Amino acid sequence: MAQFSVRINAAVVYSFLLGLNAVLADALPHLQEHRLVSMESINLKASEEFGDRDRLGHHLVIDLFGCNPEKMKQVAIVEDILVAAAEAAKATVVAKKFHQFNPIGVSGALVLAESHLTIHTWPEVDGYCAIDIFTCGPTDNFAALKVMQEQFEAKGFVVVEIERGKQRKAWSSDDGTTVFREGLDPLGGFKTTIATTALLEDVQSGFQRIQMYNTKAVGKMLVIDDNIQLSEYDNASYHEMIVHVPMQAHPNPRKVLIIGGGDGGALLELNKYKNVDEIVICDIDAMVKAVTEKHFPAFAAAYNDPRVRTVFQDGTVLVANFKNYFDVIIIDCTDFYGVAAALARKEFYNNIKEALTDDGIMVIQAESLYYDREFIASLHKQAQELFPVVGYYHTLVPTYPSGTIGFIFGSKKYTPVEKLGNNPQSLDDLVYYTAEMHRASFAMPAFLKKLIAASATAKA
Ligand code: SAM
Repeated sequence: MAQFSVRINAAVVYSFLLGLNAVLADALPHLQEHRLVSMESINLKASEEFGDRDRLGHHLVIDLFGCNPEKMKQVAIVEDILVAAAEAAKATVVAKKFHQFNPIGVSGALVLAESHLTIHTWPEVDGYCAIDIFTCGPTDNFAALKVMQEQFEAKGFVVVEIERGKQRKAWSSDDGTTVFREGLDPLGGFKTTIATTALLEDVQSGFQRIQMYNTKAVGKMLVIDDNIQLSEYDNASYHEMIVHVPMQAHPNPRKVLIIGGGDGGALLELNKYKNVDEIVICDIDAMVKAVTEKHFPAFAAAYNDPRVRTVFQDGTVLVANFKNYFDVIIIDCTDFYGVAAALARKEFYNNIKEALTDDGIMVIQAESLYYDREFIASLHKQAQELFPVVGYYHTLVPTYPSGTIGFIFGSKKYTPVEKLGNNPQSLDDLVYYTAEMHRASFAMPAFLKKLIAASATAKA
């Protein structure tokens, strides 16, 4: 199968919006006017046998609006501006060809040692210019854009940035639909595949790659490092279960900590408990919140609750600062690699235990009972060494690998199922959680029960 790949790069746009790229912001005061074409119009095809590769070339497709018509009319001026733009980009001009239309308008091309810069002007149509700059090598194409914007006196512009030749694992189904393929594939041939209609965000933060897709079947979908984090369709069964199970099992939780959960979905559920006085949410990556809040406004609004304190820090570092403080700690983290690897270590559980009050409860996202059984058993064992009451419960999330995900429940005093309904006012209008689901979720399939029992008795 022929394979190629195009990546529309939103990182530049978002780094500006977030105020994280001052240099670019200075250079391009109108960057917020940029928009990105959606992937809908691009039929990506790639083959799994080709891995990720950095871009070979940098392409800006530029529309300038409201330019000075007097400048766009004359071939000599247009040529001078393009040459100045190429110089600003530190590109080398090797040939030029410009054409004067009669009565007005210009077409022109600079052949660059690094590739090309072309223009077509419409002085009679609102001072519009269509420009393409494509280069390989270390040119500064945004510097060229700045020169052209200033010298043509453009009142506005739209630019689409394309990283040419960048190879990534994009897939297309037989009917040409662009699809997202989940990165995790423990069985080696059973990847979740979801038809997408647009790649809305694609940001590389200091910690991870964060993407937001629009999909045909499950609405908007947040992806981190190629792993589905949540979708509009089924996030309730995850967020309700990670929050309401510990919160219902505890009779009077006043102070609650969420580690991870930067998307705000768990926070929204937690805010429903009016008897909670203080909520701390600690995600290592501010960019997760920034990317999600545009697309999940209800989650974003959860941060505005006056009881919420938001910290962007490694959760392992934050938790070590607290002793005997939180009634409930919820660890809503990514899978246990990279920045989340430390969240599976015993030292972290020790610190969680210390940070909890004498009757505190913790829950931690703990993977799929089908795919991660040994890991679950080892995490369960680790929790048993620290907490008198330990359980594993699970919920159904169709977009996650294997369609299910579970949680380790560790408690210093309260059992997870004995006395529920301590805060019933918080349970109106839920989608998934009920007291029956809560109880049932602790029932384990035979294979996991056996594995957990075996691991509990095994010598370290
Ligand atoms: N529902 C999700 C799942 O299991 O797929 C979890 C979603 S939430 C987006 C996961 C969050 O954990 C991410 O925002 C990530 O930045 C955060 N995270 C990972 N490691 C962390 C750490 N060491 N400290 C704090 N947050 C962490």
